[in-house]
Amino acid sequence: MRTDDSWTHLVLDQLSDDFEPWMSCDECFDRSDGILEGILAGEASMPAAFRAHLAGCAACRGELEILGDLASIDRGMDPALTRARLDAEIARRAQ
Ligand SMILES: [Zn+2]
Repeated sequence: MRTDDSWTHLVLDQLSDDFEPWMSCDECFDRSDGILEGILAGEASMPAAFRAHLAGCAACRGELEILGDLASIDRGMDPALTRARLDAEIARRAQ
């Protein structure tokens, strides 16, 4: 039906706006280690595309949290603090 189609396109347009700039799960995963290193070292923040992807993708966010736990333990840091830092980085996407 024509009206349903145009409504669907409208919704999809709005959804894709929320996920700009776009990043694939593969790219997100490939960059996770490097970005996590920067955040743990306090030297870098998350790129906007990475932050937007994590805000919309529970699978990649879960992966990053596990990577963060392991990296924290390696450095003798508290994994709960790392998770809080990652949450704060993701929450900054509105800026
Ligand atoms: Zn993903």
